[in-house]
Amino acid sequence: MPALDLAFIGSGNAFMPGGLCCNGFVVNERYLFEAPPQALMSLAKLKIDPNELDAVVLSHHHGDHFLGLPFLLLHWRWKGRTRPVTIVGPKNTRELASRIAEDVFPGVFGEGFAINWVEATPGKCVRVGDLTVEGVLVQHDDLLAETLGYKSWINGRNFGYTGDTILCDAVMDLARTSELLISECASRDLKVPVHMNLVDDIPIVREAMAPDSQLLLTHISPDVTANGLPNTFVAEDFKRYRL
Ligand SMILES: [Zn+2]
Repeated sequence: MPALDLAFIGSGNAFMPGGLCCNGFVVNERYLFEAPPQALMSLAKLKIDPNELDAVVLSHHHGDHFLGLPFLLLHWRWKGRTRPVTIVGPKNTRELASRIAEDVFPGVFGEGFAINWVEATPGKCVRVGDLTVEGVLVQHDDLLAETLGYKSWINGRNFGYTGDTILCDAVMDLARTSELLISECASRDLKVPVHMNLVDDIPIVREAMAPDSQLLLTHISPDVTANGLPNTFVAEDFKRYRL
């Protein structure tokens, strides 16, 4: 296996435009970034067993990033999970996830496996297996508890993930320091509040990156392209990217 293998369970924004699945990806078959509502369906399509996931890493609590978690918990509870799982997310993730999951699937928390809830305090590294992540505070929806991007390391490679955000200092830092930056790009030229777009923001992000580093756009609408930017790619549902 290459050092870094990304399998996209979705590439779309919250509106699922053009039938795109909501954004999320699995790193090296073991680490799921984001839990979009269709996570179980997408994992099945990619032939990734949810019980083999070691961790779920969440950027924030908007439904397109978070509401697949009750379904994952349901699967783990009733489909034979025995291995522990780590759930990493911004503050209040455990409280919110527990409340929603128990309300919509009563009895979903039971015996059988352990859940290790980890609050990703910005600036502190979290290690799960061979993956290390460090949350960075980005600027998104002020009504949420917190929104994080992540610096991540695995198998000697590093990658950044912006979560959902406007263009801010944390994004520029991720751009400067990442071998691969997986960046949200919610629209082509539409100025969607609290998001970045292809025409106004992404060229600035690309310009800050090292020339040989790669930029992978996700959380998109269907009219988002690489737009001629160097070493820039657009994620597609159920496709894999290797580094
Ligand atoms: Zn969001």
